[in-house]
Amino acid sequence: MTHCAFDSTLTPQQPGRLYVVATPIGNLGDISQRAIQTLSSVDLIACEDTRHTKKLCRHLNIATPLVSYFREREQEKAAALLKLLCEGKQIALVSDAGTPAICDPGAVLVNKARDAGIDIVAIAGPSALVAALSIAGLTQANFFFGGFLPANAAARKHLFNTLATLPYPLVFYEAPHRIKASLADMAATLGDRQALLFRELTKIHEECLEGPLSVLRERIKDGVKGELVLIVHGAASPPQEQPEDIDGLLRWYRDEQQSSLKQAVARIAADLDLPRSQVYKKALAIWREIDS
Ligand code: SAM
Repeated sequence: MTHCAFDSTLTPQQPGRLYVVATPIGNLGDISQRAIQTLSSVDLIACEDTRHTKKLCRHLNIATPLVSYFREREQEKAAALLKLLCEGKQIALVSDAGTPAICDPGAVLVNKARDAGIDIVAIAGPSALVAALSIAGLTQANFFFGGFLPANAAARKHLFNTLATLPYPLVFYEAPHRIKASLADMAATLGDRQALLFRELTKIHEECLEGPLSVLRERIKDGVKGELVLIVHGAASPPQEQPEDIDGLLRWYRDEQQSSLKQAVARIAADLDLPRSQVYKKALAIWREIDS
């Protein structure tokens, strides 16, 4: 592990801190107080594109010097920043939008800083992935995030084949000029699953399309523009055997099907040809188990 010791003849200094700062994915109002405070107080902001971050800083009245840190020269840029951190500089790392290191540069510097024993602080905030998931209405806790879909059709199909049996929602970033082709490949390999396509999250023209993959493909206008997050439902889990007793059935509807008390009572009463009041009484006791 490399610790901060570039020149042992120098007086040892207190190393700086690396702040990994999330910035808005569209709406500038989403910047956090903590992000503003950090960007204002550090010695240097390392950013993907200095022109882009300059606009954000101007908007926030922040005059902290900027230095570029981008994917193509990430190793070299990270080494230079690490040296500054070891000399005691406080550095914030931002990307053009959202959370650094999520499909953006950042991981190389974070790893180098951790290896050198530098404190790394996350200034949490916007990310397109989380914004999309937060309004997707998925009841499952799990999901698979695949980052950007491969540009190459064969690589895409191979990826979809490897994910075909995953019972979790699949989340991807995709470029607008490839979305139609990706939706077609996806429908061909995964089947015509339900999906949600989010465009321009947090921006004026934010929209969400929902439906089977084939329908989304038809509804997307040719030459669509903007930034996209695609969420595709996971593979259907193998049917679970239904219990035979009423209590078991009620728990099955509640836990496996996420049914409401009312829905479960209606289904069981209808399926077993029982009076609703009889099932309702049992259902109340089962639903109360959650509160006790
Ligand atoms: N680090 C960013 C994050 O935390 O979300 C992601 C950066 S990645 C280079 C950019 C991709 O994220 C876009 O191509 C798009 O797929 C997605 N994205 C970013 N902003 C978005 C937005 N406002 N609406 C929808 N998708 C967005």
